[in-house]
Amino acid sequence: MADADAGALEELRSWQRPLRAQFPIIVANPGLAYLDSAATAQKPQAVLDAVQHYLTTSNANAGRGSYPWANATTAAVERARGRIKEFLGDPEPDGSSVHFTGGTSEGLRTVALNWLAGRLTDGDEIVVPFADHEANLSPWLEVRELLARQGVRILVRELPYQDSSGDYDPAALAASAGPRTRFVAATHVHHVYGADMNVHRIRQAVGPDVPICLDAAQSIGHLPFSVAGLDVDFVVFSGHKALALPGTGAVWARGRRGPRFRPGGWAGTPNTVGIASLTAALDWLDAAGPDRIEAWTVALAARLTDGLSGLDVYEVLGCRSSLAAGSEVQRRRSIVAFRHREIASRDLGFILYSHGFMVRSDGHCQAGARVEDGSVRVSLHVYNTAEEIEALLATLANLQ
Ligand code: PLP
Repeated sequence: MADADAGALEELRSWQRPLRAQFPIIVANPGLAYLDSAATAQKPQAVLDAVQHYLTTSNANAGRGSYPWANATTAAVERARGRIKEFLGDPEPDGSSVHFTGGTSEGLRTVALNWLAGRLTDGDEIVVPFADHEANLSPWLEVRELLARQGVRILVRELPYQDSSGDYDPAALAASAGPRTRFVAATHVHHVYGADMNVHRIRQAVGPDVPICLDAAQSIGHLPFSVAGLDVDFVVFSGHKALALPGTGAVWARGRRGPRFRPGGWAGTPNTVGIASLTAALDWLDAAGPDRIEAWTVALAARLTDGLSGLDVYEVLGCRSSLAAGSEVQRRRSIVAFRHREIASRDLGFILYSHGFMVRSDGHCQAGARVEDGSVRVSLHVYNTAEEIEALLATLANLQ
């Protein structure tokens, strides 16, 4: 492990310990290590309290009644919209909009069907990732099929990756983007390889007018995030991966390029309790400090990557903890995926659980992944510890 990572862990230990103590499910299970936060994250007491408080003080429907509980719920939903804009560092909150969803998958599909499909004409091109999460590929292919049935043919191009580092290749993107390029979809942090995909380079590659939609499922709640520095048009994320309840998420739309984002149809009753949990989760994350959460989880992931690279039977997927000197590519985030050269990943997942480690072991819903592409994925959050990583490495070493 680089000295900087060891130093970060030592320095942040006293900050992290009381935060970990705020997760009841973690505290109640000292013999288990939850290492699957990329799938869904555990909830701190403050989020559980906010849920309880909402349901026991003002539970009602939003945007309908005019009595105090209904008004309080309507106000809470509006407050959550503002809170999300603030959390995303939105420099122009009056011009943007926030639409609540059940998660990233639903959010991306909403952008595809309720916004993108209506603005494409015959011969237009869109650029999307072919090896990221399935949720960030299938909606765009669905748009192509929908339009084809109407006699409108669009071209779906692959957002190119760099072989050497696994993030996107801005030069290849610039070469393939043309006057008919109308849209780019990208992922902020890769859910299998843990790579920061360097999406800030996409804007320059495609020019000032092309809308960019960012899947931020693995970055919101894990690192400082600001749309001010990222010239993207949509940010889509899952609340449940950012410490809020399952079935929560949002689409933030800048509202500057193309028509306004107005999801169509009758929206029905929003997930008011989930929305209340989302506000509480963002408050908790801000108080904890996204910069420290990032430093802590990145250092843990670096330790795991380094430890694995010393064990010959394991192959770590994606980028190493830090990449070639001089590379602009940033380091691995809080996700480490690996394979044992002889033990199938699924079996390895079961073996690890028998030692108390909860990991994911399959293809991780990666677009195009085949069964044989499966791997074990360890994904970290603020409640994980250096001791858990050391214990995991010791267990993995015994399986050599
Ligand atoms: N995008 C990425 C990068 C993800 O990691 C995930 C979930 O793992 C999703 C999209 C889908 O999120 P959800 O299941 O919350 O819709």
